[in-house]
Amino acid sequence: MPELRVAIYPGSFDPITNGHLDLIERASKQFDELIVAALQHDSKRATFSLEERLELVRDAVAPFANVTVDSFDGLLVDFAREKGAKLILRGIRAISDYEYELQMALMNRKLEPSVETIFMLPSARYSYLSSRLVKEVASHGGDITSLVPPCVAERLRAIQR
Ligand code: ADP
Repeated sequence: MPELRVAIYPGSFDPITNGHLDLIERASKQFDELIVAALQHDSKRATFSLEERLELVRDAVAPFANVTVDSFDGLLVDFAREKGAKLILRGIRAISDYEYELQMALMNRKLEPSVETIFMLPSARYSYLSSRLVKEVASHGGDITSLVPPCVAERLRAIQR
């Protein structure tokens, strides 16, 4: 039987945006299984707790049957090994993402040569979108309903009150 193509999509997801979701939808068609994995250790710097971030991701990815949600701490390659995943998925929005992503991908390759990092591009309409920017716009009362899933828009509105 051919090996299942399991990919891990790691990130802070603080909170998940339509840019992340666009990538998840594309990737769900390319891999047998996609594990969206939220970084635990960002919790202190994050706006949302790990539990909240996971809840919002779970809600947003519910329509995709082969997408699961998990969290990890420590080395991503250790988590990949634990999950039997040979692929790491990352998004590249603009050239500004490239240098950081290159460093991480090459370091992960050094640590675990059998794991491959795959980059995908979101739809151009999400290429300017980041969790940080969405939070900033929301904090000033801007309309973010077309930028994030409904559950996130609701939560962001609630914390502004
Ligand atoms: P990190 O804090 O590790 O950058 P993020 O949750 O911000 O985690 O992002 C996780 C991954 O998703 C990264 O590869 C990032 O480049 C990608 N990403 C973030 N926003 C978008 C977007 N709007 N379109 C495509 N990819 C994105």
